[in-house]
Amino acid sequence: MRIGTPKEIFEGETRVAMTPASALELQKLGYECLIEKGAGAAARFSDEDYKDAGVTVVPTAAALFKQADIVAKVRPPEETEIKRLRKGQTFISFFYPAQNEELMNAANKKGAHVIAMDMVPRISRAQKMDALSSMANIAGYRAVMEAGNNFGRFFTGQVTAAGKVPPAKVLVVGAGVAGLAAIGAATSLGAMVYAFDVRPEVAEQIESMGAEFVFLDFDEEQTDGAETGGYAAPSSPEFREKQLEKFRELAPEMDIVITTALIPGRDAPKLWLEDMVALQKPGSVVVDLAAERGGNCDLTVADEKIVSKNGVTIIGYTDLPSRMAAQSSTLYSTNIRHMMTDLTPEKDGQINHNMEDDVIRGATATFEGDITFPPPPPKVA
Ligand code: NAD
Repeated sequence: MRIGTPKEIFEGETRVAMTPASALELQKLGYECLIEKGAGAAARFSDEDYKDAGVTVVPTAAALFKQADIVAKVRPPEETEIKRLRKGQTFISFFYPAQNEELMNAANKKGAHVIAMDMVPRISRAQKMDALSSMANIAGYRAVMEAGNNFGRFFTGQVTAAGKVPPAKVLVVGAGVAGLAAIGAATSLGAMVYAFDVRPEVAEQIESMGAEFVFLDFDEEQTDGAETGGYAAPSSPEFREKQLEKFRELAPEMDIVITTALIPGRDAPKLWLEDMVALQKPGSVVVDLAAERGGNCDLTVADEKIVSKNGVTIIGYTDLPSRMAAQSSTLYSTNIRHMMTDLTPEKDGQINHNMEDDVIRGATATFEGDITFPPPPPKVA
């Protein structure tokens, strides 16, 4: 069978779902690989690189969709792409079926089998396909780079002949995948890092990365982690007040604040309020990774960088993985390749879409003319 990757058409998207390296691995599974001309250019993979890796470069997206049995992409399909799908074709990308019901119905009408990379169950066996984590890891790292680029001082403390420089203080709010990556990047640059999360079980992870867990003296009744799949549940109003009080206390001291707090299926909780920004020193930076879901900071404008009245820069970019296209394409294409490995147990270049397999079943949104989203919960952890 043939697997092909078209050029992303969403404006500003620079990632690509197949790299020359992932194509070599896909060929080992028995697949023939196709790429649309120029599809890797924005991530710095040239058509020549693909040709050298044995990939056939196809001149147009239309030709690619026609020739490929499996289409692998980063972004959900746009209307033109849906029109090109056909019966029995497998389509793999981030799809967000809960938010894209119409798209899912349209792809199903075409008879395509949709695998949503965002629906891969977060169980140990599927970590190699966990594209959400791959992208969150990059976003967390890049948030620190963006902060550094907009902060006029060193992260690390120094004693030089020209004077003593204190280390920057960084607060990370939300220590999931992105938050932990931000902690790792900021500590490695020498900053003093503080981190807070509503899930107390992450305190150990925060401390093991050299940051200080911001402790709240408040006894919140804990939700069983198993009920929420390891994710956070909304906090009580009392807990939230205590949390905001703590942030107000920290605000004048923190040079950089990176917010990543999310609760599945809800708008981002507002945690860094306007009055906290007003308490920050001029030159401080807030990077809000929750911008796409409304932002954790009151003042965040999605996709923009703004400066508050008191000189605090607030960054709401929603394309952080795309700003590191080579790295994110490498990780994402590896996640896709692992998905293809599980879909090709015989390594014979033929898809075995095994709906008995928890991971494949979990990620499949449409199959053989049926909507298969939402999936049943996975049987194993
Ligand atoms: P996420 O992006 O949904 O949320 C980011 C973080 O925000 C979470 O740590 C959450 O606790 C935190 N948060 C929510 N409300 C908050 C508030 N009011 N104040 C402060 N923090 C708040 O989460 P994620 O990064 O996708 O993952 C969260 C967890 O999921 C992981 O830490 C892990 O336990 C689990 N996970 C498991 C796997 C796996 O394969 N086993 C993979 C990825 C994630």
